[in-house]
Amino acid sequence: MYDLIIIGSGPAGLSAAIYARRAGLSVLVFEKLPMGGGQAVNTYEVDNYPGLSGISGFDLAMRFFEHAKKAGAEFVQAAVTGVTDQGKKKTVHTAQKDYEAKAVILAAGAVHRKLNVPGEETLAGRGVSYCATCDGAFYRDETVVVAGGGDVAAEDAIFLARTCKKVYVVHRRDRLRAAGSLQEKLFSLKNVEMVWNATVTEILGTQQVEGVLVRTTDKTATRRIDAKGVFIAVGIVPESAAFAGLLETDEDGYLRAGEDCVTNVPGIFAAGDIRQKKLRQIVTAVADGANAVTSAEAYLLGM
Ligand code: NAP
Repeated sequence: MYDLIIIGSGPAGLSAAIYARRAGLSVLVFEKLPMGGGQAVNTYEVDNYPGLSGISGFDLAMRFFEHAKKAGAEFVQAAVTGVTDQGKKKTVHTAQKDYEAKAVILAAGAVHRKLNVPGEETLAGRGVSYCATCDGAFYRDETVVVAGGGDVAAEDAIFLARTCKKVYVVHRRDRLRAAGSLQEKLFSLKNVEMVWNATVTEILGTQQVEGVLVRTTDKTATRRIDAKGVFIAVGIVPESAAFAGLLETDEDGYLRAGEDCVTNVPGIFAAGDIRQKKLRQIVTAVADGANAVTSAEAYLLGM
C-alpha cells in the first residue's frame, strides 16, 4: 500500500509528488495520457511563472516531471476509473488493476469544453482543433478562426498569427476575458480580426473544414467566414466524472475543496484545475500541490 496516490501529472500533481517525496512518503502518480504535464504542455509560451519568463509550457512541464522523478515518485500510465473510500484504505481503480493507498490527491485537471455545434465532431482532426500549438503548423499562410475570448483563445490567436495569413477571433461579447497583456499583443497584430458579439453556429465542410457560420448574439445577422482551420478555445471542464459519486462538486463539476485542498472525504484531497477555485494558473496549481500534501501529511499523522 502506498502512502499517497496522486491522480494526474499536471503541475498540481507533479508539485504534490515533489512535496510528498520530500516528506518521505511513498508516492504513485497516475497519468492517463502517454505524456504527462497537463494542459501546460500545449502552451506555446508561459510568461507568468516567476523566474522563468518566456519558457515554453512543454519545457516547464518537463522540468516539473524530471524534478518529481528525481525526487523518487513512481509513475504509471493508466486511466483511473474511480476511487473507493474504505476509511484508512483508499482503492484506486483502473481497467487493468486496483491500487491501494492511505491517502489520495485528485489532480486530474480539466479538458477542453466543446462548442457543440454541427460539424465540430465530424470535422475534428480535419480542420477542427483544440490545440493551436499542436496543429497550428498545418495552417501556414491559410485563414483560420479562433472561437473564445479567454487566455487560451488570445494565446492561440497570437500563436497562429505568426504563420497564418489571417486569424479571425470570434467572441460572444464585446470584450475579452483574457489578461490585459495578451489583449494588448493581440490587438496590435495586423492579421488578426476580432468578430465581436458573435458565436460560431456551424462548422462547414465535408472532408475538411471549409469555413464557419457566425451569428451575432442578438441573432439578427449570420455571415460565412471561409477558413481552413477552426481552433476552439471556449474554456475547460473538470475531469471529475470518475469521482463525482464520492465527492461533492459544484454545479460545474469542480470538486469542492478550500485552499487546504480538503474534500468532504477524509484522506482524499483535490488540487489544481479540478478544484473549485477562482484563479486557474500553473502557479496556483503548483501551490495546490504543496497545500494538498501538507493536508495529507496531517491526515496521515492522525491516522
Ligand atoms: P476561460 O477563461 O473560461 O474562457 C473561455 C472563453 O470562452 C470565455 O471568453 C467565454 O466567454 C467563452 N465561451 C465559453 N463558452 C462558450 C460558448 N459555448 N460559446 C462561445 N464562447 C464561449 O477558459 P480558457 O481561456 O480555456 O482558460 C482556462 C483557464 O486557464 C482560465 O482560468 C485561464 O485564466 C487559465 N489560463 C491562464 C493562462 C495564463 O495565465 N497565461 C493561459 C491559459 C489559460 P465569456 O468571456 O463571455 O464568458
